[in-house]
Amino acid sequence: MTDRYAVMGNPVDHSKSPEIHHMFARQTGEAIQYDRILVPLDGFEAAVRDFFADGGRGLNITVPFKEQAWALADRRAPRAERAGAVNTLYMADGELVGDNTDGTGLVRDLRVSHGVALAGRRVLLLGAGGAVRGLLPVLQGEAPAEVVIANRTVARAEALVELFADGGRLSAVAFDALRGPFDVVINGTSAGLSGELPPLPADLLAEGAACYDMVYGDGPTVFERWAQAHGAAVALDGLGMLVEQAAESFLLWRGVRPETAPVIAALRGD
Ligand code: NDP
Repeated sequence: MTDRYAVMGNPVDHSKSPEIHHMFARQTGEAIQYDRILVPLDGFEAAVRDFFADGGRGLNITVPFKEQAWALADRRAPRAERAGAVNTLYMADGELVGDNTDGTGLVRDLRVSHGVALAGRRVLLLGAGGAVRGLLPVLQGEAPAEVVIANRTVARAEALVELFADGGRLSAVAFDALRGPFDVVINGTSAGLSGELPPLPADLLAEGAACYDMVYGDGPTVFERWAQAHGAAVALDGLGMLVEQAAESFLLWRGVRPETAPVIAALRGD
């Protein structure tokens, strides 16, 4: 029987994960089936247990179940432990293992695919929700000189600073107190989903700065357009992160790393 994988979420019909994993499977010659599973809001644990009891091999978890997946895992990879959220589940030695490939996905897209170094750089994170929390352990592993978290609700940014304290190299700030310049700015707010942008000073970016928006859509996002208008050398949307986190999950499940560039190009319709 073909090995079965799926993405669980609510809603889930927008998810591009089946398309991405089927492209990976064709490219690597791995035989897999990958479905979308819409899980009732109060039915996550039962759905996961049923999936693995029926012989399912691995799951991706999306909104709003990543924290529940973290709690359900028998053991967790270090990057997932600190992220407080799990986007990848699989069984190993009879145990449910939780991992989080989102942060690694973003960092690989920036550093490996686009040559943007993070070591020694001043990095600004916009937002303090689940996506930023998931990124922090991986980002800190890249040894940036400094990381500043700016969020509309400053208390949420301060809570992350407390959680990820890094010898004074991590701090929180309100948008109206934000001062550049930054070498790398990552937008992890969901403001762009409604066409909005956090209030950013015009002189935020250092020369040659790279900007990354976790959001993606058809055409440049609001933040990408802001970045281009304010002198960024590189402005990227989050489609690469989406494909890279999927590749990282595929690697965990199948032991083979797929090529991401052709899949990103196919999704963009290039
Ligand atoms: P959360 O709901 O956990 O956090 C949302 C964040 O956005 C909070 O910091 C919130 O601020 C901020 N925010 C929302 N609206 C505004 C606004 N109008 N102005 C300023 N700040 C705002 O979401 P996630 O962290 O899970 O996700 C964040 C984004 O990242 C989403 O758009 C999601 O689609 C994207 N994402 C992309 C991935 C990819 O693979 N490309 C993977 C994961 C996420 P406050 O705390 O004040 O409410």
